[in-house]
Amino acid sequence: MKKAGLSEKHYDLIVIGSGMGGATLLNQLADTGLNILLIERGTPLIHSTQARDSQAIFVEEVYRPNEQWLDGAGKPFNPGNYYNVGGNSKFYGGVMLRFRQEDFGELVFDEGISPAWPFAYETLAPYYQQAEALYQVKGVTGQDSCEPPGVKGYVGAAIPDEPTIAKLRSQLEHVGAKPFSLPLAIDIDAWLALGQTPWDAFPGTNPGKLDAESAALQSILDHPNISLLTNTTVTRLHTEANGKQIKSVEVCQGGVHKHFSARLFVLAAGAVNSAAILLRSADQQFPEGLANRSGQVGRNFMNHNCTALMAVNPLETNHSVYQKTLGINDFYLSDGNGSQPLGNIQLLGKIDGTMLKAQLPRMPKAALDWLARHSVDWYVMSEDLPQSNSQVRVSSNGQIILDWQQSNLSAHQQLVKKTKQLMRAVGFPIVLTKAFDRRTPSHQCGTVRMGNDPATAPLDPYCRAYDHDNLFVVDASFFPSSAAVNPALTIAAQAIRVAEHIKLTEIH
Ligand SMILES: Cc1cc2nc3c(=O)[nH]c(=O)nc-3n(C[C@H](O)[C@H](O)[C@H](O)COP(=O)(O)OP(=O)(O)OC[C@H]3O[C@@H](n4cnc5c(N)ncnc54)[C@H](O)[C@@H]3O)c2cc1C
Repeated sequence: MKKAGLSEKHYDLIVIGSGMGGATLLNQLADTGLNILLIERGTPLIHSTQARDSQAIFVEEVYRPNEQWLDGAGKPFNPGNYYNVGGNSKFYGGVMLRFRQEDFGELVFDEGISPAWPFAYETLAPYYQQAEALYQVKGVTGQDSCEPPGVKGYVGAAIPDEPTIAKLRSQLEHVGAKPFSLPLAIDIDAWLALGQTPWDAFPGTNPGKLDAESAALQSILDHPNISLLTNTTVTRLHTEANGKQIKSVEVCQGGVHKHFSARLFVLAAGAVNSAAILLRSADQQFPEGLANRSGQVGRNFMNHNCTALMAVNPLETNHSVYQKTLGINDFYLSDGNGSQPLGNIQLLGKIDGTMLKAQLPRMPKAALDWLARHSVDWYVMSEDLPQSNSQVRVSSNGQIILDWQQSNLSAHQQLVKKTKQLMRAVGFPIVLTKAFDRRTPSHQCGTVRMGNDPATAPLDPYCRAYDHDNLFVVDASFFPSSAAVNPALTIAAQAIRVAEHIKLTEIH
């Protein structure tokens, strides 16, 4: 890696953002000899005792950014959106599920339509396989009730269930459910060697979590053609006079503004920030922002409808450390009785009393500790549908406005009800639920979508901007729909596909 403190020189390629999209794409282009600059707003996460301390992470929120966004009503909030090398994947739960084959077609819900992608599942399948290999995903095939075809085998055996979860798995099977081992980008021995904690929402500061930094970036940063510039925020893009190409990025580094130019640009700052950067880049020629002839930049923001569900059995103690090994897709395509698609259910990392206290500050800590000792904790997730008025905007002073219009709540309520019934059927007399915090756009996507028609989508199916032919957007913003499984593997698979396309079309 070349040292930062770089001159404002010309590169072959500039990648903005080192998250799942940016880092995966860069991993694939590192050996091309292209002279590449990766610009990242954050810094590498350094290990400290706080990295395994629920009080620091969930109560003191030490990893949250020093930033305020506005909601649709103009109310400020501090977003759970992480800025560091590796982006949000440093905090992710490592669940690496493929979207279902059906997710690439049109799906009909009671409250609206989930649109088709501009290509079929089969187009992405080989890249899913490459992404699973890159992120060393462990799992087992043949258990997931709507597993898409062609999952050819993971790189290792599924992470073992802990005893409470192994017992729950057989109870679920006994009542006819089909629990499956979650495919996980986790090296369980390495993770636990640093501390007996879950990994979900904990920062990955050792190789135990295979994330955008540890799995995709670390191995290429010593390449002489790759330069990483951290602590540097891209503020806007500038076009050539003809408007057809991007000429340079403007960055802010310690209060100083600089410009870097390149032949090709990949914007991968996350679905909220990529849209904001394009909107902030408005100029006389493009008053509505760059790549925005369709008027869709910032629109169609989606984030999944999510509920935390605690199944409590006062007579049993859950001794799990990490817990997060099971999923259930039995209601993904319908409830089995012809209903609309409902979504995915998966275990959360083990909840403790401190995490609960962060959510329920008025409750006595001892009561919360008791609850957490007797609960099994689930993440219930349903699709959020793209809507034009669900939007990222920027205020006149450049502040992000996240006006999220949630959709498809009837499907989500049905799924929560189904999950409650299932938990009662397997011996949990108390089931508590709480909708996930709207401050945390964990599964943000859709704001710079791809499509076949430049009138309705900013990006073509290879994530190239229709309006600027040397600009690609390769983070979750390209999603035309959110599906109802976790997004990271799909971001990575498409990033590999786009990297291959860049090699074929842009390197001569
Ligand atoms: C707690 C948590 C748990 C999750 N669990 C899972 C899971 O189990 N499975 C799963 O599939 N997904 C999970 N996710 C979601 C997943 O992490 C994200 O979907 C994915 O990491 C997004 O990747 P991205 O490339 O789109 O964007 P990001 O990860 O947001 O990356 C964007 C990068 O750009 C940088 N950046 C932003 N603005 C600028 C700027 N102006 N200039 C320069 N750099 C900039 C950021 O610092 C960041 O590094 C989870 C997320 C969270 C928060």
